[in-house]
Amino acid sequence: MENQNLDHRVYHPLDSVEDVEQFYSAISRDKLTQKLSPERPYCYWTIETYDKSNGIRGGGGLGVLAADMRRVAEQLQVPFVLVTPFYPWESHQRMQNMEQIDYHEERDYHDFGFNYVDNVRIKTSTTSVELSVIEKQMGSSRFLCITEPNFGELYSGESGSDHRLYQEVALGFGGYQALKLVGLRPAVIQLNEVATFFAAIARLDELVSSGMNVYEAIVYTRKHTLYTNHTLVQAAEATFHYSQFERYVFPNIKSTSVKRWLSDKFTDGIIRLSTPTVEIAELRSGVSKLHARVANYHDINGGKIKFKSVTNGIHMRTWVLPEIMEYYHNHDILDKFDLPTVRDFEGAVEKITAADIRHLKNLGRKRLNEILAHRTDQYGNPISIPEDAFLFDFKRRFVDYKRPTLPFNDPDRLADILERNNAHYILAGRVHMGDSTMFGKLMNTLKLIDSHPILRQRVHYLPDYDEELGLGLSLGANSSINTPIVGLEACGTSWMKDVANMGLLISTHDGGVADMPSDNYLTIEGKTEEQETDNLYHQMEVACKAWSNDFDLEYWVHKELIAYLDICSGSRMMRDYLNYLF
Ligand SMILES: *Cc1c(COP(=O)(O)O)cnc(C)c1O
Repeated sequence: MENQNLDHRVYHPLDSVEDVEQFYSAISRDKLTQKLSPERPYCYWTIETYDKSNGIRGGGGLGVLAADMRRVAEQLQVPFVLVTPFYPWESHQRMQNMEQIDYHEERDYHDFGFNYVDNVRIKTSTTSVELSVIEKQMGSSRFLCITEPNFGELYSGESGSDHRLYQEVALGFGGYQALKLVGLRPAVIQLNEVATFFAAIARLDELVSSGMNVYEAIVYTRKHTLYTNHTLVQAAEATFHYSQFERYVFPNIKSTSVKRWLSDKFTDGIIRLSTPTVEIAELRSGVSKLHARVANYHDINGGKIKFKSVTNGIHMRTWVLPEIMEYYHNHDILDKFDLPTVRDFEGAVEKITAADIRHLKNLGRKRLNEILAHRTDQYGNPISIPEDAFLFDFKRRFVDYKRPTLPFNDPDRLADILERNNAHYILAGRVHMGDSTMFGKLMNTLKLIDSHPILRQRVHYLPDYDEELGLGLSLGANSSINTPIVGLEACGTSWMKDVANMGLLISTHDGGVADMPSDNYLTIEGKTEEQETDNLYHQMEVACKAWSNDFDLEYWVHKELIAYLDICSGSRMMRDYLNYLF
């Protein structure tokens, strides 16, 4: 069984039905409760979910977001179904001679409290595949998963491959049948990225097959489908061939007119799923203000697609130290929905003292050290960060645009900052399978650290980055470093975990961070990477100094919380989605 370190979280269920009504009435004059019901829930489709305590490991932010949506729905008693695959295999990493080694573990849904419901079938041109439908009810929310022994693991196979298409078809058509099987009708369908597109087609096909005119059915499906985009560039998206659709997709569509509609979305025998997705979803959102503005998508006639921005949020009770949540609630900073209080939120934040911050962060450091005790660094040893040491962290997927190696551009300067300030630096992340560029960059960075007497003592790399490390570092680090190339991060949520836990954020002005002006955190600016690196080192010094000076510490923590606590709140995100949907 997994070590369930997220289970220390405390749930304060809402007190009464009136509370939920109050939340709903805050978002809509119409009674939302009439539009959403246990039989007609909010249906959220996602190829990736990141919820280890329920046996499903994701790859990154997309999956964490999906898991947090469900948790927020459960907390706020929103009728909600998360339709997602249960992957029988998941990938892990360990280090060997400073190389990342991938290995795989099997997962059995019985170990995670899922119930088997029945089987559904999807077809290919030559055969049919039985999928098991399994479910797990959690308050007003539930997991509804499809799975079968050969489903593979998340993102197995190349993008655009037959296996990926099979997974996406299984999730869309199989997931829709699963919904029918358990007696549910979707009030709305949210498509978390285009890999879930076939859910909308399954619905369209059902409406047409039950007698609705195809144009009416399209209008109806469009009105009740929300496409959430996390990617910036349409051209980067995978393409599929018509022949792949003939083998995997068309056999699952009953209506000839729906097949024809979909065939018309091909250009020169090739399709990107975003093309039919924007046709079948009238509601479209991006995941931060900046992202919604710059996402460059066009419809089939070349018209630019407009995205509404609903900035991602986090489920606060999962990602924030329970003592800090208690503090926010007791000091009128957050209300019982975990939204900033309406009455004098800023005034309440400004009363947070440096002594409170230090005390709470010390508790966070203890939690981090408990987690680090059963993890290992690049040498295979557990580590512990002394209570009196300052801790920086960089924790995210190792992809090039996030620039995990930026702080190592000038190793001696980094070493000097760490040594003078009695600081440590934890680097946590995983390289995606097959990403040889990052694989090499990670290995070179680890060799550099190994060859440097100071960095060797003070920089720790933790492999197999997962939620537990993500949580632990947000609780226990004093300052986190977020360095995406400006314009390439859609939103990011790691930085929200850091801000909500009263850490000092050092970041480029990108993704959701750019929802607010850059004077609200320790910003990295610069026209060249050299200037940005210089600026990063400068802000690391500022962070260390702030920690030993009450006035500066309060100044920065107050600024960050006033600017970003509302954005961080997953309840705010749910409110924004419900507002947009209804
Ligand atoms: C929070 C979290 C993420 C989100 O990462 P971003 O880079 O901020 O989008 C990814 N992976 C894990 C394990 C997380 O806990």
